[in-house]
Amino acid sequence: MLIGGHISTAGGIYLSPERAAKFSFRTFQVFSKNQRQWKAKPLAENDVEKFRSEVASRGMKKIMIHASYLLNMGTSDPQLKTKVLDGFLEEIKRADILGIDYLTFHPGSANGTTEKDALRNIAENLNQLITKDQGCTILLETSAGQGKTVGHTFEQLAEIIDQIDLKDKVGICFDTCHVFAAGYDIKSKSGYGETMDRFNSIIGLDKLLGFHLNDSKKGINCRVDRHEQIGDGMLGIDGIANFITDRRFSEIPMNLETPLGEDGYFKDLAVMNSVLKEE
Ligand SMILES: [Zn+2]
Ligand SMILES: [Zn+2]
Repeated sequence: MLIGGHISTAGGIYLSPERAAKFSFRTFQVFSKNQRQWKAKPLAENDVEKFRSEVASRGMKKIMIHASYLLNMGTSDPQLKTKVLDGFLEEIKRADILGIDYLTFHPGSANGTTEKDALRNIAENLNQLITKDQGCTILLETSAGQGKTVGHTFEQLAEIIDQIDLKDKVGICFDTCHVFAAGYDIKSKSGYGETMDRFNSIIGLDKLLGFHLNDSKKGINCRVDRHEQIGDGMLGIDGIANFITDRRFSEIPMNLETPLGEDGYFKDLAVMNSVLKEE
């Protein structure tokens, strides 16, 4: 499988491939800038070169950038919209400068607007930004449905994609914690099969281009976004096993985003490996 995890860029983004390699990851995810700030320093040419050569020499592939949490693409507020579009364009440019394949973002929230309008705004805003010659593919992340966030049902995600002009530039990042929290049974074998069949008929498995591999602190349909270490949560190792043993997804990047981050990945991997050995 193409297992990775969210990796720190402390000290320079070019250090992240080496950090990822410590866990024998074949892929990873980073923030390309501070995820809680609007402004970002431009990427230094030297850093970009070092990053690209580190990625190539370590054979890392299908790397993901996680976009800033501030970018509510669902907004109907014209002032915020301008800021969000600027910020998102910057994310796309940075992904392309770094040669990163996927830019994952939280679709947004229906704060101050209806769900329908939020979904339309997300699609319209993406249509303004996406170009034929951009290198990266933009991934809509499945949400937990906390508060007024949208993207917690497959139907909502399909409704966004249906309104996108350049559909080959968008896909889905499936967060196991979020989908479980949003009410889908991915824990039992039969529930997992049904859920993925539903995903296929509503969105299409060809659109499933990435995973966030997380356990969930809370139970199914809790509608809260609380990650847990692999095997320690309510989704449990059985739920995670459904994904990591599904051969349809063996070349789809799966990134851990568990609460301990790099301090917990060895343990997460050990728990996952115990399942893979039984296979
Ligand atoms: Zn996310
Ligand atoms: Zn989350």
